[in-house]
Formats: sequence, structure tokens, C-alpha cells
Amino acid sequence: MMAKNIVIIGAGFSGVYATKKLAKRFKGNPEVHITLIDRHSYFTYMTRLHEVATERVEPDSIQYDLQRIFHKQKNVQLITDNVSEIDKENKKVIGENGTYPFDSLLISMGGEPNDFGTPGVKENGFTLWSMEDAITLRDHINLIIRKGALERDPKKRQAMLTLVVCGSGFTGAETVGELIDYKKVLARENKIDPSEIKIMLVEAAPTIINMLDRTNAAHAEAYFKKNNVRFEQNP
Ligand SMILES: Cc1cc2nc3c(=O)[nH]c(=O)nc-3n(C[C@H](O)[C@H](O)[C@H](O)COP(=O)(O)OP(=O)(O)OC[C@H]3O[C@@H](n4cnc5c(N)ncnc54)[C@H](O)[C@@H]3O)c2cc1C
Repeated sequence: MMAKNIVIIGAGFSGVYATKKLAKRFKGNPEVHITLIDRHSYFTYMTRLHEVATERVEPDSIQYDLQRIFHKQKNVQLITDNVSEIDKENKKVIGENGTYPFDSLLISMGGEPNDFGTPGVKENGFTLWSMEDAITLRDHINLIIRKGALERDPKKRQAMLTLVVCGSGFTGAETVGELIDYKKVLARENKIDPSEIKIMLVEAAPTIINMLDRTNAAHAEAYFKKNNVRFEQNP
């Protein structure tokens, strides 16, 4: 058998799982080379990004070193590189630091947030879909609340102290849940009353968290209401 290069781009949940499976499948076969490429040297536990954005946890507590994850899989080569192009014709993955030939390619580079064309979201909003996003959002929330706490103009002050989450999917709803706790921390740090920090959830559909059954969604909705989260639905 001729040597075979299997390249996987993206070490998220799907890329890591697939690479583990392939490593096991081709263990002891020196003809098969498995290469996993990611722009980071660590796996990001994406489902906890909202906890980084709201300082519940430090970034490194949801980063898992890929060398450690794959230390037993000697047949996996790890590459840290940002992939910029895939040359399908010549079967090469092109990154900023190198070129990686492949016979088989798995693209598991994840997705991106969708604003469904909602006016203003892209121009004015922040996304929460990577470690970089989470840190940028965390820094912005800190800065805007700090500025808002010092603002004397009541209208500007209220605007700065209002946090709007757009979209009530899992990510949006979990972020609102975190913000309910985080606003107490922010209020304490900035010496203001927590009730001054308003949380608003905007959703295009008439109901929220529409991937849950209505009983569970109703529990979440009741919790949000109890904590004075304002809803804007079906705008
Ligand atoms: C806050 C939050 C909460 C969530 N909660 C849930 C939940 O409760 N349940 C659930 O099922 N799902 C949840 N999700 C969704 C879940 O995280 C994603 O569905 C999942 O991470 C997708 O896995 P993936 O491997 O396809 O992509 P990702 O996890 O996004 O991984 C993609 C990888 O590709 C790498 N990459 C991308 N582009 C390049 C490039 N050009 N070059 C090199 N590397 C690149 C990235 O660095 C990343 O490591 C949540 C997401 C978020 C953000």
C-alpha cells in the first residue's frame, strides 16, 4: 500500500473526535499519516465561551492542550497553523506557515454566527463563537459598564448600562443566564446598584429558546422574568 496522508482541519469537537477515531483505526499502520491542523495549539470547550465572556472562568480553564489530548496517539501529527486555502486540484492545504499535502481531507472548521440579516447586529454587535470573541466581549462589557457608572447624563448612562443579547438560542439564553449573575459582580466592582444594569433579550420568533420543549423553555423564561430580563419579541 502507498503511503496515505489524512489531513483534518479544525480541532473542535468534531475534528478531535474524528482524529481520535482515525488514530485508533490506523494504529500500527506506518503507511497512514494523520495530521490535525488548527489555528490554536489548544482545543476550545466552545459550549462554555459565555462563561469566559462573563468572567465566571478564566480563558485557560476552557482550553485543553492538544499535545496532551493526543499524547497517546503517536500516529497523529499536530500542526498549529491558520489555513487560508485548499488547493483541491493539487490536493494541498495551504496555511500561513506551510503547505500540507493530503490524500483524504476532513474539513471540520466549525460554523459562524448567523444574524439572519437583522439590521444593526453585524455593525454594532459582538459575536460569541471563538475564544477571541469571548475575550473581546468580556473586555467590552467591563469597559462599557465602567464608563456607564461614571456617566452623568441619564440617557447615556442607561444606554451604557444596558446589555442586549440578540437571539434566544442556546448561546443567547445561556449568555443571559450568566449576565444575570455577572451584573451583580459588575455592580459591586463599579459601586453602583445592580438594578441599574439592565439585560434585554431580543428574539425574532414569538417565543424564546425554541429548540427546547415548551415546559423547559417556560422555566427559563420564568427565571429570566424573575430577574428582570426585558424581552423584545417578534420585532
Ligand atoms: C456559548 C456556546 C454554547 C453552546 N452550547 C451548546 C450546547 O449546550 N449544546 C450543543 O450541542 N452545542 C452547543 N454549542 C454549539 C457547539 O459548541 C458547536 O456546535 C460545536 O463547537 C461545533 O463543533 P465543530 O467541531 O464543528 O466546530 P468548532 O468547535 O467551532 O471547531 C472548529 C475548529 O476549527 C478551527 N479553525 C477554524 N478555522 C480555521 C482555520 N482557517 N485554520 C485553522 N483552524 C481553524 C477553530 O480554531 C476550531 O478549533 C454552543 C456554542 C457556544 C458558542
